[in-house]
Amino acid sequence: MSGPGRYLPDPTEGITNPEDLPPAKVIQRSRNFTHRPCPCCGKSCFRHGVVTRILHDVGDLVAGRPRDIHLVYSRHRCTQCNSFFNADTSEYARLKSHYTHRVVSLALRLVVEDGLPYQAASWHLWRDHRVFVPFATIQNWVEGGGKKGSAANVDELSGLGPG
Ligand SMILES: [Zn+2]
Repeated sequence: MSGPGRYLPDPTEGITNPEDLPPAKVIQRSRNFTHRPCPCCGKSCFRHGVVTRILHDVGDLVAGRPRDIHLVYSRHRCTQCNSFFNADTSEYARLKSHYTHRVVSLALRLVVEDGLPYQAASWHLWRDHRVFVPFATIQNWVEGGGKKGSAANVDELSGLGPG
């Protein structure tokens, strides 16, 4: 019996240690520039250093593996303002977030639109999207929504769902 409707349990069900999950596929992305305009004065500023930010994205369902974006970005120094600033990475993720906008949006939808409890949302994200998000992190996103403007992230998911 191997018809299309056959039930196959997720082979990772019951794993509680993220280190036991299949390894992530790494995607390289770059926001690394030799010069960037200073956000304060507009002066074109030299690169001072390079930083790598690791972001967990929606996973690869075909391979059944998570997907991490290794985002390399440049740090710049403005000699006029005597300050440092980073190349803008906000198209990928919010400041200091370890997850892409896509993941945050999906999580918020599961809780806000579908009414899933945090733990169920966490499992759903892993089972159906191959991204591991601790339920406490989802809780922070949902409950921090008002003051940090996370609710706006729901709109960042385009091309999915009705309308
Ligand atoms: Zn400046």
